[in-house]
Amino acid sequence: MLHCDYLVIGGGLGGLTAANVLAEAGCDVVLVDRSLPEARGALGGFTRFSGAKFSLLPAGQGLAPVAGGLGALRATTQDVLAFCDLADHSAVGSLDLLDDQPIGAQASMRAYQSIVLTPQQVERLVERISGKVGASIRVIDAGIDELRPGPSGWLAFSRGGAIVEGRVAIFCGGRMGGTLLRRAGAMPQEGKGIDLGVRIEFAERESLRALRDRGPDAKILIGPTRTFCLNSPGTIFRYGFRQITIPGGIVADTSERGANFGILTRVQGKEDRLGRVLRALRTVPPAEYEAAPTVKGAPFQDKTAILESAYGFEVVGHLKKFAETLGELGLVDWTSEHRIHFPLLDWHWDTFAVGHSHRTSQPNLFVAGDAAGHARGLLQAGVSGWLAAREALADASL
Ligand SMILES: Cc1cc2nc3c(=O)[nH]c(=O)nc-3n(C[C@H](O)[C@H](O)[C@H](O)COP(=O)(O)OP(=O)(O)OC[C@H]3O[C@@H](n4cnc5c(N)ncnc54)[C@H](O)[C@@H]3O)c2cc1C
Repeated sequence: MLHCDYLVIGGGLGGLTAANVLAEAGCDVVLVDRSLPEARGALGGFTRFSGAKFSLLPAGQGLAPVAGGLGALRATTQDVLAFCDLADHSAVGSLDLLDDQPIGAQASMRAYQSIVLTPQQVERLVERISGKVGASIRVIDAGIDELRPGPSGWLAFSRGGAIVEGRVAIFCGGRMGGTLLRRAGAMPQEGKGIDLGVRIEFAERESLRALRDRGPDAKILIGPTRTFCLNSPGTIFRYGFRQITIPGGIVADTSERGANFGILTRVQGKEDRLGRVLRALRTVPPAEYEAAPTVKGAPFQDKTAILESAYGFEVVGHLKKFAETLGELGLVDWTSEHRIHFPLLDWHWDTFAVGHSHRTSQPNLFVAGDAAGHARGLLQAGVSGWLAAREALADASL
């Protein structure tokens, strides 16, 4: 069994930046990652299986109070961009917050800059930072099944045996880590509610050109409903969550003709809403919702019944109205060939950070990235890992 001062669990951007900060401070660090099945043993978590967009402020402003204010968040964002060799990218400007702009039909647009990488660029980025972190700390390829308080910190178990003990543990296991932290006694926090929606895949990316022209990550908003994560060119990647799969949008190379984007509406009462979605989808064979047929015309017609049983009438009403408005504004051409993928869920996972910190409710157990709950996203996970490591370093108990 290994012993260390800082045990980082999870090797996505949150875990990699946390490990980097700790290693640069001269600490004894072990990083344990069970890579995603598609990653075949490589670090990086969802980075390679994402839209590869690093969204700049105002995205991730939920981290401002944790960082110690907007100025401190900007400075940490610059540190993380430098760590990823992205600080000189042309999209990086002042990181100022811009007001939402009305665009008609009660809709507004939130513009923010994004660094959009190609699949090759994101691959190289992950290799570079994994290599950098791996050169200065011990990295173990394993899944942690259980975390228990040990004689001098947290004992991490894999396949029934304790493999590492860390005086402090930082959990960066992303959106699938809830069970482990709950079992370790950490209390899930209320969080931001849950986002329910659909991801729409167009056969030709031309059909989404007007939306893409508003910016690589321009967000159109009407009340709690908004567009989400446009990938052009892009494909769909379904990832497993509990008994279902969720259609994520991921970046593709330019030979891919299609594009996709999401529409989400935010509601409260996460546990109840999620329970309803899971119950509704359990009654239909996965093939019925995973294999989306090609359709044309008014949005979601063929899916209304199943969407209503999973999300409820009100949510489906918001989604439909919003989709129609995008058509009226000339941003989406619903007459062209598209496929509706669902259930698109976001913020569906447990989050554990207490207050404006990266602490969990358990002593010497920190959490960063998606599992923290302050912000979601690639750059945001990196910033969160960076801040969590600094908080852990500042902890007087070591
Ligand atoms: C399909 C999809 C597309 C996305 N596109 C974008 C985008 O374009 N832009 C953007 O900003 N965000 C995007 N996101 C969100 C973004 O990917 C996440 O917010 C970000 O990756 C979170 O980073 P993380 O380090 O917290 O966790 P992850 O990237 O999820 O990494 C967690 C790592 O920990 C490992 N792990 C989990 N549990 C354990 C355990 N018990 N023991 C050991 N290892 C464990 C996991 O296998 C994984 O390797 C997308 C998400 C998805 C699902």
